[in-house]
Amino acid sequence: MATTYSGVRELRPYTYNDLGGDSMRLAGNFEKKCLKSADRTFSQGLQCQQINSISCVLSMSDSAFIIHSPQGCSGCVSGGADGYRVGQAHRGVKLIKSPRVIVTNLDENDIIRGGEAKLREAIRIAGERYDPKMIFIFTSCASGIIGDDVDAIAADAQTPDGPILIPIHCDGFRSKICASGFDAAFIAIKKYLLPKEPRKKSSGLVNLFAPTSISYKDQLEIERLLALFGATVNYIPFYSSYEKIQMITAAEASTSICKVFADEFMKELEESYGIPFAHTVMPIGIRNTDKWLLGIAALLGKEAPAREYIEKEHKRVQPKLDEIKGRLEGKRVFICGGTGRSFAAAALIDDFGMQLVGLETPTYDFDAQIDIEYLNGIHKNYVVDVANMQPFEQVNLVNHLKPDVFIGVPAWSARLGLPTTHVLDPKRPTMGYDGIVYLGEKIAEQVENAGFNRKLAPYARLPYKKSWYEQDAFKYIRDL
Ligand code: SF4
Repeated sequence: MATTYSGVRELRPYTYNDLGGDSMRLAGNFEKKCLKSADRTFSQGLQCQQINSISCVLSMSDSAFIIHSPQGCSGCVSGGADGYRVGQAHRGVKLIKSPRVIVTNLDENDIIRGGEAKLREAIRIAGERYDPKMIFIFTSCASGIIGDDVDAIAADAQTPDGPILIPIHCDGFRSKICASGFDAAFIAIKKYLLPKEPRKKSSGLVNLFAPTSISYKDQLEIERLLALFGATVNYIPFYSSYEKIQMITAAEASTSICKVFADEFMKELEESYGIPFAHTVMPIGIRNTDKWLLGIAALLGKEAPAREYIEKEHKRVQPKLDEIKGRLEGKRVFICGGTGRSFAAAALIDDFGMQLVGLETPTYDFDAQIDIEYLNGIHKNYVVDVANMQPFEQVNLVNHLKPDVFIGVPAWSARLGLPTTHVLDPKRPTMGYDGIVYLGEKIAEQVENAGFNRKLAPYARLPYKKSWYEQDAFKYIRDL
């Protein structure tokens, strides 16, 4: 997050969020710097950046959260709250709590007269009811459009002994790339929470940036891997706290669980506090786990032991991977996910000899190009859909390509009768060497037991006319 970074991902050079076509053509055009920006003349079901800002900080233990919006904007919080509650249970918490969320419930009157009074009241209630150390305030399209000056209201409501008020500017219309919501949260953390003077260095401490969607099993696996190098982990903002945020500046190095999570923030930490960082991939699948581990090991001066360890781990899991490969080899896959997970899943399927026929990802940029070039070396003629959601495009492509299995959020493709599974699992293992085996088993079980989705399909029809499936899936994408 260089000082000039706006927090809007599509404003970064060579970043695209509306594209579709053959992977070789996209990669070739990107390399020649002649990939044209495009837009959709019709759009359906865009994921809002606000939910990414919320999910980024929702598991912070000593915090309350105010969503300054109409009630509907808070709808997605239920999913994050569920993950947080299950996450506490997995961690042995006896008195499980829900995240402390208040919605200001802006209505027609507030849209005309302004939402200041409701926001002030919400701040008062959050402070009195929950006694938090921090109150995160999420803006929305509505608060942005009416021009509520949330920074000024928070500054005015801030008391010396009260909770720290932290506005996060995540109005949905600011960006079509939902990962911008992560950036908005980190911009606020930098502005309101990081100490001016860095804390004294703590030997072996590594900042590990992760959102709430990491399972407890994944947390243990990451800790196991980093403990090999004598490192201890400061998770941020995942199950974090005010004190852990302060310790960010004491770390020897930083890394992230995901390519699009905290990447700009880690640059900022390097510029402002001299903390080096490894920005590689999500540790899912053999190739990516190796790459992720070597990235952080190199920073800590532990590359040689890391390579030795990787060799041992390959030997340990290979027999199991071979067995799973026997069940999955040659199966055709369509993958859909956030930028980090979609590419991680695409690399994962190579471990099982599967064939990529379609890949849906929200962003295409320099990082994506590295992954696409790698995948192009293995898979031929697969389609790339650069889309934030857009279920109408997805079902058209899936129906046309007829994969054997769909990996991603299954809500739409399951209704086509396909076996589906996903790698975004906050409750089960997905990462590291044990995660590969677990995910492989999960994919194989879905492929071998597709009865549920097949039986579901005739009763859960999608809302599209037959004629749509006969048209070009990218019909509504237009070059600018
Ligand atoms: S902030 Fe905007 S885009 Fe996001 S949920 Fe609310 S209205 Fe929708």
